[in-house]
Amino acid sequence: MNQYTSEKLQGIHGTSVKRAFYIGRFQPLHNGHVMVINMLCEQADEIIIGIGSAQKSHTQVDPFTAGERVLMITRTLVASNIHKMWYVIPIEDLQRNALWVSHIRAMTPPFDQVYSSNALVTRLFFEAGVDICSPIMHERDSLSGTEIRRRICTNGSWEDLVPYEVVQVIKEVDGVSRLQDLMLDDVDISERANMHHS
Ligand code: ATP
Ligand code: MG
Repeated sequence: MNQYTSEKLQGIHGTSVKRAFYIGRFQPLHNGHVMVINMLCEQADEIIIGIGSAQKSHTQVDPFTAGERVLMITRTLVASNIHKMWYVIPIEDLQRNALWVSHIRAMTPPFDQVYSSNALVTRLFFEAGVDICSPIMHERDSLSGTEIRRRICTNGSWEDLVPYEVVQVIKEVDGVSRLQDLMLDDVDISERANMHHS
């Protein structure tokens, strides 16, 4: 071998440190995600959290920006006293699923294992020969981004389903009224704007 000894190659491929990769949209980060993150921390030396669909925001399904989601995750991890090294990386969608794993690899530190129960994510990593762990879904009726967004929109109770830091971020960015406004149609907006003139 030349200067690339096997030891150096090991470093290049990241096999000396066991890193786990977890991807979600985190719209918003909730307690189900936190349980998965805790599991990663028990099973890996370092954890990488990918924020998927990073380019999206201000829609009913993807209300929060990548930056707002970085805040939710970073503050929660700092407050939870995790002693493992962690990385939070926004990742934009690639409109070509066959190349998606390479796209992820290009954006993240090298990793050995993927944690996901999403059908497309697990299929794409399986085809790429990556070791996949599919965590058990906890209390999926309530610990679901879709359900939490629904409750925010309808003034239901959602604060107990997410970490305290996430409640703070959503309040700071006026997230509740953003989500509620995104449900309105042109007539609603027009009526609201002209309410004081009639
Ligand atoms: P949405 O309803 O918006 O899709 P979600 O709750 O599925 O929100 P995602 O950001 O899609 O959240 O989650 C990413 C991954 O996190 C999922 O593919 C799943 O593997 C895991 N996950 C989500 N909710 C739970 C849960 N309650 N328990 C365990 N894992 C979960
Ligand atoms: Mg989902």
